[in-house]
Amino acid sequence: MTLQTLPWRLHVAVSAPAHSSINEPLSYLAAHEVPPGTLVRVPLGRREVPGIVCSCEAAAASPAPPWAERPVSEVLAALPPLDAHWRALIAFTARYYHSALGEVALAALPPTLRRMSNAQLEGSMKRLEKRAEKARKEQPSTPDTPPQPSAEQGAALEAIAQQRAGVFLLFGVTGSGKTEVYMRAVQRALEADAAAQALILVPEINLTPQLADRFTHRFEPLLGAGSVAVLHSALTPAQRLAAWLRAHTGAARIVLGTRVAALTPLPQLALIAVDEEHDASYKQQEGARYSARDLAIWRAHHARVPIILGSATPSLESWHASIPPPAGPGRYQLLALPQRASGSRLPAVRRVDMRRAPRGTVIAPPLLAAIRACVRAGQQALLLLNRRGWAAALHCRACGWSSECPHCSAWRAFHKSDRTLRCHHCGLAQPVPRACPECGNLDIGTGTLGTEQLEERIAAALTQVQRPDGSPARVLRIDADSTRGAGQLDAHLAAVHSGEVDVLVGTQMIAKGHDFRRVALVAAINPDAALLSSDFRAPERLLALLMQAAGRAGRADDESAAPAQMWVQTTMPQHPLFAALAAHDWAGFAAQQLDERRAAGLPPYMHLALLRADARTQEAAHAFLAAAARAVQDALAASPAAAQLAWSPPVPLPVQRVAGVERAQLLVESRARSALAQALTAAEQQLRALRPKHRSVIRWAIDVDPLGV
Ligand code: ADP
Ligand code: ZN
Ligand code: ZN
Repeated sequence: MTLQTLPWRLHVAVSAPAHSSINEPLSYLAAHEVPPGTLVRVPLGRREVPGIVCSCEAAAASPAPPWAERPVSEVLAALPPLDAHWRALIAFTARYYHSALGEVALAALPPTLRRMSNAQLEGSMKRLEKRAEKARKEQPSTPDTPPQPSAEQGAALEAIAQQRAGVFLLFGVTGSGKTEVYMRAVQRALEADAAAQALILVPEINLTPQLADRFTHRFEPLLGAGSVAVLHSALTPAQRLAAWLRAHTGAARIVLGTRVAALTPLPQLALIAVDEEHDASYKQQEGARYSARDLAIWRAHHARVPIILGSATPSLESWHASIPPPAGPGRYQLLALPQRASGSRLPAVRRVDMRRAPRGTVIAPPLLAAIRACVRAGQQALLLLNRRGWAAALHCRACGWSSECPHCSAWRAFHKSDRTLRCHHCGLAQPVPRACPECGNLDIGTGTLGTEQLEERIAAALTQVQRPDGSPARVLRIDADSTRGAGQLDAHLAAVHSGEVDVLVGTQMIAKGHDFRRVALVAAINPDAALLSSDFRAPERLLALLMQAAGRAGRADDESAAPAQMWVQTTMPQHPLFAALAAHDWAGFAAQQLDERRAAGLPPYMHLALLRADARTQEAAHAFLAAAARAVQDALAASPAAAQLAWSPPVPLPVQRVAGVERAQLLVESRARSALAQALTAAEQQLRALRPKHRSVIRWAIDVDPLGV
């Protein structure tokens, strides 16, 4: 083939992880001009892979590369090109998180789309159009009547409407009507422009199914069937493709989804809302380790549209950004909703001093009495324990054996329901031994309490307790184990909502946004472990979780109901965190934490990144990371950035070995974002260049703004 027959040169991004050798778009030839953002299929070695056109030029206009260029295999012209905003978003993501452009771009597409031919795609688009036509003929359902905004909601909406763009931190206790503010702001934006689209991000869709329902019920009658697209990783491939195509073609006016939705093409983006903006699940933990919240902020800025970050417990990063000058940067505008919409009060907090309880106490007597009273009164109690299984581990009292995982540096938990020892890191499950496998001793003890055991204990303690109708009390557990099967979580949640369940035991899964109507008592059974963690964000995380759990209580509009209670069992009752919980004072806690962070040189006053490596041995991972860091330091020695960077030595991860792979990381920090970015760009090059010489290194990654340092 000659230049005459294929006169166009395309630069195509193909998927390759950052740690592989391909990190630039590849060049191919084409017979016709192809606009940037077009999906293509191209040959790569012996395979054919999907790619996205970055740029297109006359082949004669630039020198041919030294290798034989190949023609593109297929142009997927049925799909409108991905627009400039989306391409800029992908380029920013790859640059900021130091990952390969192609990896980010292709991972952002629905998996099915990556395998389709143009003919198949044409078929999908036609079917979608037919379905949309049918939906347009459907009788619209009657819209629900939204509540009249409160004075505070009105003020927040006014502030958002007045400024065309900007970041708004909507700080409102649980049940204060934040969702109502998102919906009204969306409505206003969509009414102002008949093509406008809104993006709503939520942390975990199956834990907040009500939010998707509320948006659908509110907006489908106004905008038509199919105008709300829900996008998350648990959809079937066909559903995911359909939702994505509706967003990309503009048919969906509202896209509501988890972090995967943050990279959806939205050609008419007019507003973004991020619910529970503090939630750690917005941070992607593999591939490009992006924060969906931070990308959403970038998108809003780039598209010049407003973004609402909502939370009862804003991240300290967002909180700090909302402090007005001169004390803070004032980049975000703080909008507060200090009261619950229903007028109901937040629960009274009681601390139980577990130092006074007899050893081995699981539920202290006053708490047990309160739970019993709650059940007798026909109300629900919610017991939070962030550890699943029956016990965290098994130990032999005679020889010291413990149920360590052979492949991970972690204990395997004892699961009584199926009598297994199961590793929560690699999944290895084996039958529980009857006696100590080392010495044959029959007296194997259990370590820290888990949800299974708590469920069993509370059920035993309630055998004599009856509900108002005389029936026995019912206990239910919700955690990753009890909700593994399809539909199990929905069924469990329905049982709680219908009032079948009196006591709900669970992990943080039960603390999230559920709107349980009859919960009058919430108890944190053993939250102390989190306070002993070395992670500087542990207190922030724990208080956010406890406040969120407290927010599950007392949501009923019933004025006559007894005031709700939040109980905390702790050996550290004087800890300031629990005082903040009792006072429902996030602002005070945030101010105190920020003082500490400033003094200690931690985020948001410092910017962090991790270089991470997985290898066959710790030594190999350390050597690789240290060599890369040294090379970067040498390369930057003459640069002004050098003095602004602090390098820590490589260390093993808190769980250093998983499934036989050793994991290590190295912390780089700087007060200057630009210096850090410069160091990471150099690090990316060095890691890639050094990798072939470090043969037992399996993979490496760069984690910018990491969580869990
Ligand atoms: P949040 O998102 O802050 O938890 P929601 O928006 O879910 O709060 O509101 C909590 C409850 O209060 C919902 O049932 C909602 O319908 C109701 N609500 C919200 N705003 C108002 C209002 N202005 N008047 C009456 N009820 C309201
Ligand atoms: Zn033993
Ligand atoms: Zn394991």
